[in-house]
Amino acid sequence: MSKDKTTATKSTKTAQESYKIVKRMYSKAREAVNEGAPVAWVMVASIAEEMLYAMDVVPVYTENYGAVCAAKKGAGPLLEAAEADGFSNVICGYVRTGLGHAAKRKELGMIPPDAPEGGMADPTMLIGSSAGCDPRFKWYQAMGRYMDVPYFTFEVLMPPNNVDPDKVREFYVPYQVQELKRLKAFLEKTLGRKMDEDKLMAAVVTAEQTRTMWWRCYEIRRSVPCPMPTEDMLSCVVPGMFHPSDPESINFYKGLYDELEERVRNHIGVVPEERYRLIWGGGLPPWHSMNLFNHFEDQGAVCVIETCYCQFEPFEDAHKYNDPLERLARWYYHRFTTKQKKALQGPGHPRVQRLLDWIDEYQADGLVMHGSISCRATTVGQMYFENVLRDYVRIPTLFMESDIVDDRDYSELQTKAKIDAFIETMETHKRKPR
Ligand code: SF4
Repeated sequence: MSKDKTTATKSTKTAQESYKIVKRMYSKAREAVNEGAPVAWVMVASIAEEMLYAMDVVPVYTENYGAVCAAKKGAGPLLEAAEADGFSNVICGYVRTGLGHAAKRKELGMIPPDAPEGGMADPTMLIGSSAGCDPRFKWYQAMGRYMDVPYFTFEVLMPPNNVDPDKVREFYVPYQVQELKRLKAFLEKTLGRKMDEDKLMAAVVTAEQTRTMWWRCYEIRRSVPCPMPTEDMLSCVVPGMFHPSDPESINFYKGLYDELEERVRNHIGVVPEERYRLIWGGGLPPWHSMNLFNHFEDQGAVCVIETCYCQFEPFEDAHKYNDPLERLARWYYHRFTTKQKKALQGPGHPRVQRLLDWIDEYQADGLVMHGSISCRATTVGQMYFENVLRDYVRIPTLFMESDIVDDRDYSELQTKAKIDAFIETMETHKRKPR
């Protein structure tokens, strides 16, 4: 690994400032522990945010901690601690970082003093979910080796890709509502108090407003030149993903939108000459080496949109539902089925449909897929998606490989060489008559 800076240089002021929110997230959780307030370790995108907010539980998103450790070059000792306890090095890098943190916490009797950002506060409870992958279901079970706190996991379901979402909605939504009721009962039992329904509804509505404002920031990135690259948005997802019910998060995205609007008005792009517009079309980023985005940019190539952690189109029908849990369940169903009906008439898979739509909407010249050795959930299917895509559009695709957290096998030189070759391919492709 190069000893030079490996984080990305950001283009927007909002992204440059956003890491303060991350720092605050970890310090706030430690303060909560000192004050005897509840802290939950929790998974992203699991429809738990609104309920935790309504119950004044401070969340710690343990996947985020893996990314923070990777970016800070502090993951190594935690990965090794997990592996020393028998966890395989092909298990998700976020999971291994979290397990290593817990192993060291137990061994030392205190949060590891060298843990990035002061480490994760001790949890009052663990809330896992089935959304997305098997590690998210099993990770907190394995935590039982290191801590003895109430543990809960629940189903967060998506329908299969090959069914008409309208036909199965009334099976999935009621089932999801039941699962959310189980989560509510767990929180009430663990905390020994009832959830305030009005506070929950307010949290749900605020989260919708946050997501709508956040979505607008994706839409404006369709402008040419693009006012905000992927590496900036990956820093700016924090309020929307982790604190959507906090009114401050709406203000954060309003501020971001205003900045992007001003950049568009003044034709300020990410690079002096935007030659190639790219879609980060699959996989999570290598948090240990985010400077690779700048390497693309040095050659006029800008990632203008990304599949990872991307916000979805707002749920316009939300106002029709007065029960907060049903409203949450319907929003979640909407979120994961927006492209499904259209996909059934075309490529068959909603992820391919989304890429096809984006190629058009964002005027993309190329696709980048990142295969992460330890995140099979976002890696499996990338080759298939690209193959299906080829039936509809010819667009150069770069396949890269590394890990989200673990940089022990990462070669910066090889990665840069691959990017350089890809840029040449795009140039040739651009010159070809269409
Ligand atoms: S989706 Fe990937 S990165 Fe996220 S927890 Fe699952 S395996 Fe880990």
